[in-house]
Parts: sequence; structure tokens; C-alpha cells
Amino acid sequence: MRRLAEPDQRATRGAWAATVACALLLAIAAGCRPAAAPVDLVLLNGRVVTVDAEVPEAEAVAMAGDTIVAVGSTSEIQRYVGPNTEVLDLEGQLAIPGFIEGHGHFLNLGRSKMILDLTTARTWDDIVAMVADAASRTPPGEWIQGRGWHQEKWDPPPAVTVDGVPLHHDLSRVTPNHPVFLTHASGHAGFVNAKAMEVARVTRRTANPPGGEIVKDERGEPTGLMRETAQRLVSAAMEAATAGRSPEDIRSEMHRQVELAGEEALANGVTTFHDAGSNFATIDFLRGLAEAGELPLRLYVMVRRESNEVMAEKLPQYRMIGAGNGFLTVRAIKRQIDGALGSHGAWLLEPYVDLPTSSGLTLETVEDIRRTAEIAIQNGFQVNTHAIGDRGNREVLDIYEQVFRANPDKTDVRWRIEHAQHLHPADIPRFGQLGVIASMQGVHCTSDGPWVPERIGEERARTGAYMWRSLIDAGAVVTNGTDVPVEKINPIASFHASVTRRLADGRQFFPEQRMTREEALRSYTINNAYAAFEEDVKGSITRGKLADIVVLSRDIMTVPEDEIPTAQVVYTILGGEVLYRRTAMAQ
Ligand SMILES: [Zn+2]
Repeated sequence: MRRLAEPDQRATRGAWAATVACALLLAIAAGCRPAAAPVDLVLLNGRVVTVDAEVPEAEAVAMAGDTIVAVGSTSEIQRYVGPNTEVLDLEGQLAIPGFIEGHGHFLNLGRSKMILDLTTARTWDDIVAMVADAASRTPPGEWIQGRGWHQEKWDPPPAVTVDGVPLHHDLSRVTPNHPVFLTHASGHAGFVNAKAMEVARVTRRTANPPGGEIVKDERGEPTGLMRETAQRLVSAAMEAATAGRSPEDIRSEMHRQVELAGEEALANGVTTFHDAGSNFATIDFLRGLAEAGELPLRLYVMVRRESNEVMAEKLPQYRMIGAGNGFLTVRAIKRQIDGALGSHGAWLLEPYVDLPTSSGLTLETVEDIRRTAEIAIQNGFQVNTHAIGDRGNREVLDIYEQVFRANPDKTDVRWRIEHAQHLHPADIPRFGQLGVIASMQGVHCTSDGPWVPERIGEERARTGAYMWRSLIDAGAVVTNGTDVPVEKINPIASFHASVTRRLADGRQFFPEQRMTREEALRSYTINNAYAAFEEDVKGSITRGKLADIVVLSRDIMTVPEDEIPTAQVVYTILGGEVLYRRTAMAQ
């Protein structure tokens, strides 16, 4: 273990000289403990798991300004305590690097806190009742929004369904005067009522848009379920209804979303968030916040929903690394080749077992994504493409491979596949070989596990679903996250899913693919830092790195597996400041 006595960078020359003199004079007389320059914050008496191979474990950390200045034993770090130092006695609790959310939707997380939360609804009737209640408190004509419903969670299932999803009539009956838009947990489908279809002019005669489906019953009437891009027919009407708002109103709503998303992230120990992604206008807004010191946590934002033409022109002026004192980095582009497995939108090599007429959907074309990749590599941007089905993953690997081969001078590009959920076994080694990062979400595996074999069959599930063990063994970097608000942002739940693959009913989903706890911790810290080119400044508790640290109430590295989810965040430290403290009420 490296025993250190590094002075604060801001130490005066005199203090530094005194320290050196003391060290020199008394090094012979063992036990010399010269006082170091006092720091702003120290953690003492903890179990510090650093994710730094040089000093894997310690008891204490000293932080000055936004930087870690020393990591060591409690007695070593005590020397940094001065009259103005805040001292946190961890009483043996675990300190680890701040969690990095590897793939989420930052403003949508804030927005999800402002609309109906349908994630815990037990039945479809519960959802109808929640919407009816919201309608009773909402002026007629205003939109009612919700998100997070999932048909697989309802017990009992609704009596009449098409593709497992109910018809809109019960919902429409209780909301005759309010258009309603309820987003599926996956984000890949929406459910609307009759009023919403009326406002959006969706009828039995409306054709499916490319990459989407207006689901219809056997009489040809829309059921209310809008898959993938079909959602935009309705969301466009919803946006038109709010188009009259002033720029100040829109800004203040975005401010509120940032605030709510920040609170939720910090309460869960998340100190950096990879946002997948935002358009240039949103990035302008976030840059303003970063430069004013108003971002609640560090963001790594991927450029999204801009055409290749616009990106070719504007990418150079949007490339920023650590803007606003290390709070905002933009050097990646998000694309999306297919949909999600739950809504039969994942693009598969062979048809769905439970929908043999379909092999899924292509959302953005191979040609368009290839063009993005060419623009990106010329501009020093990373490409992060959503791919869930095995066909989608293969197509993206092919695009990346071709573009890498055409640009042999561009190295260390660290391109990513977001989700990488269902892989053909032949494609698994390609991640490591090509240096493509598998940006996965542990908790998706255990949420989706119960119905994955229904969709793709037992064999494809066993050999291709959530293959993080095989990917790691074949040399790939695997990162972790939650895709919040698709899942809750809680990293401890996703860590638990990663090391157990245990479903809510107690079964395990192909447990041979589990990660070790050390791998899971790396996937949530240093690997996510690497996936953002930030491993030199974050992702481990190392002298000189940013002071982003989380303290947990239970030691998730050693407690029995089934107790991991009981761990709570005690402190979230970001840039050397304690931004979240567990209150007595939460204990
Ligand atoms: Zn996502």
C-alpha cells in the first residue's frame, strides 16, 4: 500500500519546507507525523475501496477544493485536519468512487418527476383510476401525461387485449375532455385515449409512419397503442398545444427538470451522468448552466436528434471537454438503430418466437448511421448507437468496423453500443477485438428476464442475452447504468442485478453470466469514466482526481448478496462538497 504524505497544493512554501525538513530530520526516528497543510474535508475511519490498483484499500481520504489530495490510514489523514476542516467519521462504512450513470436521459428524468408515475401500478384498472384522478384536477383540454407502465407487471392482466395491451375504451370513458399520453416503461411505445387521437387526427385510415405502428384491432380501429415512431404523431400534437409558451416558460420548465433530476441523482450517489442525448439547443442551455456553476452534477452529453448535415457543420463548435469547471463534456453522438425487445421493436436476425411475422424494426437507417460515423470520426466525436436486437448489434459492429478500417490513423476512439442486449454468439468477441464498449444496464436484465425467453426462445436467451460475463472474458469494456427514467436511477439495484441476475420472483437469469462484485463496481465507476475519456480525472479514489465519492450504509462488496439492496447512500460528495446527506428519516 502506498503510504503518502502529500501536502495540499495550496500549502505555502514555508509549510512545505517545514514538512520536508521534519520528514528529513525525523525519518530516522520512526513515528514522525508532521502536520500537513489543512484541507477542506476529510473522511476518517472508513473502509475505502478505491478502484485504484496501486492503493486498493484505505481508511481515510483528504480533499482540498474539488480534488483528492491524500488517501491513506486514519492516522495519516488526521494530519490534514485543521480548524476549518470538515471531518466525517465514517464509523467503518464503505466509501467508493461516486457512481457514474453510464446511460440515462437527464431532462426526461426531471420530467418524469413532473408527470404521473405509472411504474408501480399493479393493474390496468389502477392506471385508469390514476388518470381519472388527474383529470379531475386538470382543466379540460389540457394534456395528461404519465410514464412507466408495463403490461407484464399487471396481475391480473386486462380482459381484452391486442398484443397483450388493452384497448383504450376504459381510459377514454373517464377522460372525455382530456387528451392522455402514457409512455411505456421502455419509452418505445405510448398509449393514448380517444381525445388524444382526435386532437392528433389519428383514425382507422391513418397509415403507419416509417419505423412505427399504430396498433389496430381486428375491425381496423386504433387500439390506443402507438409503437416507436408512431408516438410522434401524438407527441407532435402535444407539442403544438404548448408551442405558444414563452421562451421564459420553456426555460423555467427545463430549469425545474434539471433541478429534479439533480436531486434524484445525488440522492442515489450519482456524481456524473451520461445523457443519451440532447440536441444542440438543449446543449446550449446546459452549457449556460455549467458556466454559471448551476449544474447539480457532472454531465457527459451525447448529441442527439440533429441531422448529419447540421452535425457536419456544427460539431466542431460543440466539442467541449470539462466546460464549467469540469461539469460538462460533449464529444459523443447518440444514434439508434432499433427499438426495444419488450415492444417487439428490437431488430433480430430471426423472427420473434411470440410474433413470428416480425423480426423487429429499424428506427434509423444503416446508411444514415454510417454517414454519422464518418462525420464523427473526422471531428473527433465518439459514436454511441443504441442496438438491442442481434441484427441491430451486428449492423452497428459492421458500420464501426468499416469506418475504423477506412481511418487507420484514428485510434483510441472508444465507440460504444448502447444496451448491446441480444448478441449473436459470433459477434461477442468483436467488441473486444474492435475496442467497442458494451454500454449495458444491469437492471434491464432482471427487469426483462421473466419474458425474454417468451420473445426469443430459451436458446437465444441463454447464448445471447445480457452476455456481460462473456463480453468481459473476451476483452470488452462493459459499462453500467439504468437508462433512467426507463428504470429507476438506483445504482445499488443495478449493481445487485449485475452480480446476481436475480429476478423479482427469486429465480436467476442465466447466472453463469454474472459479474463479480469487483467487476460490477468497476463497471459503474472507472469503466464509465473510460467510456467518457475521463479515467484520468474520475472513476477511482486517487490522489489528484476529482473528489467525487459516495459513502454507503452497508458494505456492498462483502455483505451477503441478498442484503446488497438494503444499502443506502449516506453521503454523496461531489467536487469535495457534501451535496447529499442521508437524513434521520431515511434511515
Ligand atoms: Zn436510453
